[in-house]
Amino acid sequence: EVIKVKSMATQEIGLNEHLESQGVRAYETDLAELIVQLADDKPSHILVPAIHRNRDEIREIFLKEIPGVDPELNAVPAELAAAARAYLREKFMTTKVAISGANFGIAETGTLSVVESEGNGRMCLTLPDTLITVMGIEKVLPRYEDLEVFFQLLPRSSTGERMNPYTSLWTGVTPGDGPQEFHLVLLDNGRTAALADSVGREALNCIRCSACLNVCPVYERAGGHAYGSTYPGPIGAVLTPQL
Ligand code: SF4
Repeated sequence: EVIKVKSMATQEIGLNEHLESQGVRAYETDLAELIVQLADDKPSHILVPAIHRNRDEIREIFLKEIPGVDPELNAVPAELAAAARAYLREKFMTTKVAISGANFGIAETGTLSVVESEGNGRMCLTLPDTLITVMGIEKVLPRYEDLEVFFQLLPRSSTGERMNPYTSLWTGVTPGDGPQEFHLVLLDNGRTAALADSVGREALNCIRCSACLNVCPVYERAGGHAYGSTYPGPIGAVLTPQL
């Protein structure tokens, strides 16, 4: 078993499906990703992957798929979140390996960062013995101080928040604290070729804030699934053909 923090890079390479074929069960721990996974569904938005599901559907999914869930569960957001929390807490406490994506990597220091809003990322990044991070090479920033810009840019563009709720940073391992084994997988998957394209390379500047989805009339009408790709919306239409 492995626990996972929301990662588009691992979706891009079909990692969960591959792990399943090798007898490894991957548990998504982001609430929306959990809903999508339990329903055997696909994400439909970069930031809010289960936006196509309403609370009644989520209740049905939980009743069917979460072992031991209270049959009296109501379609009330707080109750649904509590049911997911109880289910996930047990996974956090017992699973030895976690797989994460990364929002940013720092070339100068070897530091990685995950930006999330539920605390599930913090749990995945600190509790297991082993952490494996899969990161697209375009996520690398030159210097530590560059984070200052991106930590302001990302939450303001994606959720309109002044700052992000849970921001985790780690640099290798620390004896006696957090995972004691760490692996970083740098994912190319077409990115070097995109970088060599003087026009196409601009797509690699994307920080996955999803602002372009939220204002796109095509996305609004068609929904994320219509793009048939890990990256929906306007940026997906530009990025996916290059990967
Ligand atoms: S293309 Fe721009 S607006 Fe769209 S998700 Fe990427 S960074 Fe955000």
